[in-house]
Amino acid sequence: MASIQTTAITSEVTHMNSLAQATRSGPNLPALFVSHGAPTLALDPGRTGRSWQMLAQRLPRPRAILVVSAHWETALPRVSAAQRPPTIHDFFGFPQALFEIEYPAPGAPDLAPRVKELLTDAGLSCTIEGDRGLDHGAWVPLLSMYPDADIPVTQLSIQPELDPRHHFRMGQALRPLAAEGVLILASGSLTHNLRDVRWQSVGERGEPYVEGFREWIAARIAGGAIEELLDYRSLAPDARRAHPTDDHLLPLFVALGAAPDARQSRRVDNGVTLGVLAMDAYEFATGVEAGAALTGAAAAVA
Ligand code: ZN
Repeated sequence: MASIQTTAITSEVTHMNSLAQATRSGPNLPALFVSHGAPTLALDPGRTGRSWQMLAQRLPRPRAILVVSAHWETALPRVSAAQRPPTIHDFFGFPQALFEIEYPAPGAPDLAPRVKELLTDAGLSCTIEGDRGLDHGAWVPLLSMYPDADIPVTQLSIQPELDPRHHFRMGQALRPLAAEGVLILASGSLTHNLRDVRWQSVGERGEPYVEGFREWIAARIAGGAIEELLDYRSLAPDARRAHPTDDHLLPLFVALGAAPDARQSRRVDNGVTLGVLAMDAYEFATGVEAGAALTGAAAAVA
């Protein structure tokens, strides 16, 4: 255990240097991936909420936020143009207090046609939807990141029937948004097997398969091994146990695609919740050229 933690800390520090160097080359917002955990994080944000809050406080203030949540699934990409997106309570069996939470951020109706333009220019279809609100994959992290709910937010759907490469291409198509003041917030879960969840678990480390899977992903990100990441289902250890279906990992590929060089990244959190949900979050620099100078991030993780 100690060696895993030491490695994680070393790699995070090295990544921080790398990212600081990268972001000096431009004012772009990064692309983010967060693991949103159970909806109850909205009531008890704990360590995860603090890391989201600190992350948001470090970033330039976005003009708008585009959330790519695992909880909006459509056959082809759809983007919401809602003026006042309603807060969607898309879960059951949780405390009543959760159903009373609202995240009253304004929508971003001007961003929807821009997203559609970028996706269609890249050969991906996209439809604008007028009134789709914010699901808990969006508002749970946003409550900690931007509690004043004063930044325009909208959502772009994922396609559970399409593969990681499709989602990576979506991210690539959306790269110009970073320089336009738009924060891409991809929201899923680094591991997501709800059958394995242990509701009473309070440990800091996950099941061995959870640790093995997320460290495999972390090493590939640090090494810029995009092709291996896109083929994670056949290459990563315990991939099918970590993700019986891959909907909660698909947002990661959008964030990866939005970044020119995955190595210019930082793992913001590596906690675990309910024993098996890895809460990893990543910040990917966008204002860098692919292959820009590194400070040995890959070596630190290997
Ligand atoms: Zn979820």
